[in-house]
Amino acid sequence: MDELVSLAKRRGFIFQSSDIYGGLQGVYDYGPLGVELKNNLKAAWWRAMVYERDDVEGLDAAILTNPLTLKYSGHEATFTDPMVDCRNCKSRWRADHLEGSACPGCGSEDLTEPRPFNLMFKTQLGPVDDGSSFAYLRPETAQAIFTNFKNVMDATSPKLPFGIAQIGKAFRNEITPRNFIFRVREFEQMELEFFVRPGEDEQWHDTWVAERLKWWGQQGVNENNLELYHVPADELAHYSKATVDVMYRFPHGLEELEGIANRTDFDLGSHSKNQDDLNLHAAATPNKESNSRLAVQNLETKSWEVPFVIEPSAGVDRGVLAVMNEAYRVETLENGSERTVMAFKPHLAPIKVAILPLKRNHDGIVTKAKGLKRELQALGLGRILYEDTGNIGKGYRRHDEVGTPMCVTVDFQTIEEDDTVTVRDRDTMSQERIACADLAAYVRNRISEAEV
Ligand code: ATP
Repeated sequence: MDELVSLAKRRGFIFQSSDIYGGLQGVYDYGPLGVELKNNLKAAWWRAMVYERDDVEGLDAAILTNPLTLKYSGHEATFTDPMVDCRNCKSRWRADHLEGSACPGCGSEDLTEPRPFNLMFKTQLGPVDDGSSFAYLRPETAQAIFTNFKNVMDATSPKLPFGIAQIGKAFRNEITPRNFIFRVREFEQMELEFFVRPGEDEQWHDTWVAERLKWWGQQGVNENNLELYHVPADELAHYSKATVDVMYRFPHGLEELEGIANRTDFDLGSHSKNQDDLNLHAAATPNKESNSRLAVQNLETKSWEVPFVIEPSAGVDRGVLAVMNEAYRVETLENGSERTVMAFKPHLAPIKVAILPLKRNHDGIVTKAKGLKRELQALGLGRILYEDTGNIGKGYRRHDEVGTPMCVTVDFQTIEEDDTVTVRDRDTMSQERIACADLAAYVRNRISEAEV
């Protein structure tokens, strides 16, 4: 973990937030390469969940959330972690994370009894700070999918089964944020709510577990580092009938990367008015404040059914950490020197191609290199970097370390002899001369191979 954290800072993937003021606990910023990696991971998810299917629509809902939404979802009452205080050093800890009965800070055993601590952040709405008008920062993106269920249904007229996908920030006032970007207070989630007929829920649950494992594999996560954890009944969240966690062997241990829950009809039911004639399976919160029924009509029987929902919910930040951990390797070369490589899948690499002119003040070489940069950039594959530091060897090493799959060098042979460039491959370090006319097709093949 230390090596990853240090590389992340040194190369501009991830920084401690508000670093110059000593940081903000449990909050991180993504730097120039981090933002690319994170966007690529999110794009890969969106592609798999929305574009490659015809039964899922997207959504981008607000972060500020009406308290009623989180009242009826059950979060106001139950979205808590057990907290203990150390009476000696005044620190606070998550009771279920303690090993033994001593304070991890000072070793004292003088701890309070555990009590529930609500993880939601509250913020004031408007200018009057009298507590009457506030919103929550959403603790999961899912609730806005449920409250928009009817809007999306009316707009797109889908048939069951169908899903609504969303990627966005979520906030949890974690008692003890830790392990770099693994447990933070501001993070991003990639969530799909997949609505199915009651009775077909268990089968769809299994399907989604298999789909999600396959997807993580496509992002370069080794299946030997993934394990499924069937959450026991007494640990299930209040809305869940069954949850399977996808656990990943993080540098600090085997922990949850994604949760795949069968949320039954709990959420749609709880947010609906006139629940009595909805034949709900889950014990919904009685609701007199909603003006809607979140149900679909069965065209044969004419009765209203509240769909069950299967929810694969993955953390973007945990995903980034997993993908970085998988990609990181230090190799010893034949000459005994070491090189650090981030062997990202090409579609995730922050920089797809670096174009390096052999001489930075040679007009012919520079013009050619900049032209190639424009041509490759126009392919829309992601970032193509023109970089004229002049030291090709150093450029290769830096690009190995940030995971750039290809470095293209423009030299005298390019402009004086045969219009070819050297393409150096990150993983094999092999170098090939490729005709400039074939370069775009070559790059497209190499970058998109992992996506199909
Ligand atoms: P944990 O038990 O680790 O606190 P959780 O079971 O509360 O996680 P879920 O409510 O299932 O998490 O949230 C879905 C996903 O959101 C998690 O699998 C994780 O990837 C991500 N996530 C949740 N909390 C955090 C956090 N504090 N920091 C980063 N990612 C998080």
